[in-house]
Amino acid sequence: MKVIKHFVNGKSFSGDSKRTGKVFNPATGEQSAEVKFASTKDVNEAVSSAKKAYPDWANKPPLQRARIMFKFKELIEKNSDELTKIIVSEHGKVYEDAKGSLVRGLEVVEYACGIPQMLKGEFTENVGSNIDSWSLRQPLGVCAGITPFNFPAMVPMWMFPMAIACGNTFVLKPSEKDPSCSIKLAELLNEAGLPEGVLNVINGDKEAVDALINNKEVTAISFVGSTPIAKYIYENCAKNEKRVQALGGAKNHCVVMPDCDLDQAVNGLMGAAYGSAGERCMAQSVAVAVGNIGDELIDRLARKVEALKVGPGMDKQSEMGPLVTKEHLSKVKGYVDIGEKEGAKLIVDGRNFKLQGYENGYYIGGCLFDHVTKDMRIYKEEIFGPVLSVVRAKDFNESLQLVNDHEFGNGVSIFTRDGDTGRAFSNKAKIGMVGINIPIPVPVAFHSFGGWKRSLFGDQHMHGPEGVRFYTKLKTITSRWPSGSRSDPEFVMPTMK
Ligand code: NAD
Repeated sequence: MKVIKHFVNGKSFSGDSKRTGKVFNPATGEQSAEVKFASTKDVNEAVSSAKKAYPDWANKPPLQRARIMFKFKELIEKNSDELTKIIVSEHGKVYEDAKGSLVRGLEVVEYACGIPQMLKGEFTENVGSNIDSWSLRQPLGVCAGITPFNFPAMVPMWMFPMAIACGNTFVLKPSEKDPSCSIKLAELLNEAGLPEGVLNVINGDKEAVDALINNKEVTAISFVGSTPIAKYIYENCAKNEKRVQALGGAKNHCVVMPDCDLDQAVNGLMGAAYGSAGERCMAQSVAVAVGNIGDELIDRLARKVEALKVGPGMDKQSEMGPLVTKEHLSKVKGYVDIGEKEGAKLIVDGRNFKLQGYENGYYIGGCLFDHVTKDMRIYKEEIFGPVLSVVRAKDFNESLQLVNDHEFGNGVSIFTRDGDTGRAFSNKAKIGMVGINIPIPVPVAFHSFGGWKRSLFGDQHMHGPEGVRFYTKLKTITSRWPSGSRSDPEFVMPTMK
């Protein structure tokens, strides 16, 4: 059986721990590897290696750091097929979607190539007579990232390219469900010329995460995953005096106005609800049908959901792959059972989907509910599977109220032809990322990604300008040379006269 180890100080690292986890191919249900679960001692070793590498790396001119990012970009492009196949084999999503997610990660590397421009700072000549002042941003030290299973390349790449380009060193703890991609990315970054110890990957579970939180040398933690764990990370990082950004779960609504281009809305919803089998934090799992559009929306959606091509991620015909694990498959099926019991109308039932030759894979067909109401668990909780709930709302205000009352605030979309409605919606929605006639409004790398409410704990979003702010701290220097104006001792606050 293949064993997936850690990557520390520029090389593969076995660590001390004897604990391991199992990695499966979701398309077949077969175990493909064993992954090492790091002990506290193993994590501390990775942090020590990052600490040792920090002074030289932080001191390297930003342009030299950027050149390594340029080389890394080239290597990702060269190895894109292999990286994509690794994602498909451990996550299950379809090849082209996996490739798209890799490219979205690559775009963050491209943004990080411009780091000299972003670290330039600000300068004011003569803040006082012959006194100059300037502000600059310096790296934090050793930073860590903890990432979820659903984007094994993209989410780690929201973090470490930005952190490293800013002059920090990094310890990444990817999801134990699909860890191979992170190891491959670390190997490529090493090949690109990154000094040993600047990026380390440690595999494991709660023990590894807690070791990162408790290690005093770790100055900042970026987390992406479910809301309960995000809250745990946020609270415990604060207790341990660390900077933290902790992105959590979601329940993204798509408001369908009666005046919209319904073809566009339905096609948008199909991709956004069922793409990657709904295992996206920006998946749209609730469609709000406004006014009299509900029946036609359901009718058109039902036909398309029934026709969804579900199959292994490597099959070019597949539109939707399996779920990530057997446990997750039963959780998602369990939610469909709950929805039925709660009285929602199950229009398309994918629970009994079977694929010849892949009987042990973790497949489920697309599921569609109508007449879902806001008190139901299938409305309130994140299912993270291919289950779309349609809620009926009498008008725009009611739909907006639903969006704003929900505990999550990651993404939302509205489909309308009316600019006034679109503007009012984007202005009033209490949500971090808003789409107008765009089903999945994921910001590109040079903007920043993040939700509101219980979808993000902390102040800064990921990558883009917010990424630079998160991974650096501000220093402001005020200076006067002896040849400038001289003064007697001053015992009052200096002010501009
Ligand atoms: P998860 O919370 O189970 O795991 C995320 C990470 O936390 C993993 O590395 C895991 O090993 C670690 N972890 C799990 N349990 C832990 C514990 N008790 N203590 C400490 N660490 C623990 O999430 P997941 O199932 O891997 O990913 C799916 C979730 O991630 C969904 O809720 C999804 O919405 C969310 N997500 C959010 C975003 C976003 O940007 N907001 C992006 C992607 C995924």
